[in-house]
Amino acid sequence: MARVYNFSAGPAVLPEEVLREAQEDLMDYKGCGMSVMEMSHRSRMFDDIIKSAEKDFRELVGVPDNYRVLFLQGGGCMQFAQVPMNLMNKHHKADYIITGNWAKRAWNEAKIYGDAVAVASSEDKNFTYIPDCSDLPIDDDADYVYICENNTIYGTEYFQLPNTKGKLLVADVSSCFLSRPIDVTRYGMFWGGVQKNVGPAGLVIAVIRDDLITDDVYPGTPTMLKYKTQADKNSLYNTPNCWSIYICGLVFKWLKKIGGLEEMNKRNEKKAKVLYDYLDQSKMFKGTVRKQDRSLMNVPFVTGDKDLDAKFVAESAAAGFENLKGHRTVGGMRASIYNAMPYEGVAKLVDFMEDFEKKNLK
Ligand SMILES: *Cc1c(COP(=O)(O)O)cnc(C)c1O
Repeated sequence: MARVYNFSAGPAVLPEEVLREAQEDLMDYKGCGMSVMEMSHRSRMFDDIIKSAEKDFRELVGVPDNYRVLFLQGGGCMQFAQVPMNLMNKHHKADYIITGNWAKRAWNEAKIYGDAVAVASSEDKNFTYIPDCSDLPIDDDADYVYICENNTIYGTEYFQLPNTKGKLLVADVSSCFLSRPIDVTRYGMFWGGVQKNVGPAGLVIAVIRDDLITDDVYPGTPTMLKYKTQADKNSLYNTPNCWSIYICGLVFKWLKKIGGLEEMNKRNEKKAKVLYDYLDQSKMFKGTVRKQDRSLMNVPFVTGDKDLDAKFVAESAAAGFENLKGHRTVGGMRASIYNAMPYEGVAKLVDFMEDFEKKNLK
């Protein structure tokens, strides 16, 4: 059995240990004679799974008692609607910082439910940087300020949260979820689609301060889409994505075992450094993002020559480095080096790039 080094932006690589454990449990989960996919979400077995997942998640992230953890469906894109439906409820206005495709889609969706204002954008330079967010024209009556904390496509990441001037901060953390420690109290809410850095697709984990969970939502909001519905029923209002919750639970245990988010962050910094250091001195490859904003998770790079890019993508795939083709809006290549990508995978990629550069540099 040969596993490749999978640099996919999402769904993405999962820890091998977790996959093996899931494999072991598949036919007979802990002696109950069935798999997690086959059991009732109301069973005692599953109750244990979802409760331990939440407990481990809270411990890992350090979620205070006045925040709820919700397991939701509909993927990241559902949150683009669910956030304004639930939180744009006082002045029907919210401020958005546009740092890429996902932030822009969230902003466009929010316009359906109220006054969504773009207070900053980095589109002038194809989203290759994070705008200065120290003194933005935040609206006095903004219900929240929205950011996408790590921009999966463009490879930028906030290393300092914006000054929201006292307004609630709402963040999409999909592609940096559990990659480093965070201070939950800085956010009114953050949420992540798990398929980038945590588990199988089809699950969003949302962390939301309990005073924000109310019945005061956009008129006509479906029952399913009120955070309160899910909070009141502990994410079991209807059948949740049981399988994904189970795998995420295993990933939380894996993260705890390796030393938690501090250790994960150290490893992620080390992985990103070996790749960025190489890019910085390469005569062929070039990173596309302003240095201080470079993501630890998604690393886009180009050669400046489309044919050479294509040759690199083909040859790297043949050598066991999969999914390095860049997003069409950036071109070139993108290496997503999420939590589960081992250091060895990045180091070997750099060796391969060095070799490719030697052979192809004119
Ligand atoms: C992938 C991604 C999304 C969209 O997630 P879906 O689950 O496909 O809807 C949203 N935000 C970010 C930052 C992403 O990387």
